[in-house]
Amino acid sequence: MKKIALLGATGSIGSNTVDVVTAYPELFQIISLTFHSNIEEGAALIERLSPQYVGVGSEEIREVLAKRFPKVTFGVGETGLVQAATLDAVDVVLTAVTGSVGLIPTMAAIEAGKDIALANKETLVMAGKWVMAAAAKHKVQLLPVDSEHSAIFQCLEGQQKNNLKELMITASGGSFRELTREDLKTVTLEQALQHPNWSMGKKITIDSSTMMNKGLEVIEAHWLFGVDYDRIKVVLHKESIVHSMIVLNDGAYLAQLGPSDMREPIQYALTYPERLPIKNEKEFDLTQIGQLNFEPMDFERFPMLALAFTVGKKGGAYPTVYNAANEIAATAFIDGKISYLQIEQFVQRAVEAYNETNEVTLAEVIVIDKQTRTVVERWIEEEGYL
Ligand code: NDP
Ligand code: MG
Repeated sequence: MKKIALLGATGSIGSNTVDVVTAYPELFQIISLTFHSNIEEGAALIERLSPQYVGVGSEEIREVLAKRFPKVTFGVGETGLVQAATLDAVDVVLTAVTGSVGLIPTMAAIEAGKDIALANKETLVMAGKWVMAAAAKHKVQLLPVDSEHSAIFQCLEGQQKNNLKELMITASGGSFRELTREDLKTVTLEQALQHPNWSMGKKITIDSSTMMNKGLEVIEAHWLFGVDYDRIKVVLHKESIVHSMIVLNDGAYLAQLGPSDMREPIQYALTYPERLPIKNEKEFDLTQIGQLNFEPMDFERFPMLALAFTVGKKGGAYPTVYNAANEIAATAFIDGKISYLQIEQFVQRAVEAYNETNEVTLAEVIVIDKQTRTVVERWIEEEGYL
């Protein structure tokens, strides 16, 4: 029986994880879970999964739920996330919170010797160097949940590292892949939230449309697989059937294909190295799909992808700044405070304003993350379009 801490249980990855876990009650048990503000869904999950420990976003929520569920221990905020992730009984922590709040509980879990199934890519973007070093030091497994990285992880299995020439990450292109930059001036939130292939949380759906998501994934891949940025390629693949590929020295391509169903990489991260059937699997018939298309990425159309390579190569806290500015700007767009193209403008401006070439520590990275948020919030207050 694998005992799981599920951080971000009420989200899109969280609910897919609950599906996977409840399909195999003899294999998995949710020991602890967290959510932030969705009290209805959170209470329903406590009812259904009977966790020992629940982390919530506020004292008010804790008070209400503690009365309703007297047998459950509750914690609030960062403490709640860290405790949920480090309980003695927990074997593996599935990190499905959105944004950089994932970093501290993930690090705490690694230090407590827990394996990590990582959906929260912002953690690696912000602090990949320290997270990977801690995982190696504490000998814990860090298994990717992001579909591209799960695909690459699967393709790399059994390969000698020096056989690898390149990683090739596929990108669907997001909601606005058919639009020009001129068209982007007037797009709405509703349009941005219509992803052609995947049903996901709001922030990552916006990030997919700006290609920020792919940028974060490039940096995530760099840390997870220890591959230089010059050997990470991105290719537009609108069908999202090939979840990503590796290219070997002799020119062979290995790809992982499947339906757009996050339960697959989630389940694989939890059952690795075993593979089990997915309950109520989505229909997947290559003869119905018929053809797969691949196109070069247009870095001018998608400047956030180009910027990912720039900040990744600069290293230090540059990726932190890139990510923090985007978290604030994408959320401000979701909240109707800025226009769509202002997301990119604020991210670009934050990266340009940051000018530190010295080595940074993890503590400094955490400070720079906060400072960037404050600065971008101020820009939004002063210049937001509404
Ligand atoms: P959602 O927005 O659907 O869910 C986010 C979860 O995190 C919810 O449980 C939410 O709680 C919780 N949460 C939000 N803000 C905070 C906070 N400040 N503190 C603590 N918890 C918080 O996101 P997704 O499931 O789409 O994505 C989760 C992560 O997985 C992201 O890092 C994303 O990039 C990554 N990912 C997602 C994929 C997908 O298919 N969705 C694919 C690959 C990666 P509440 O509901 O109460 O607000
Ligand atoms: Mg992905």
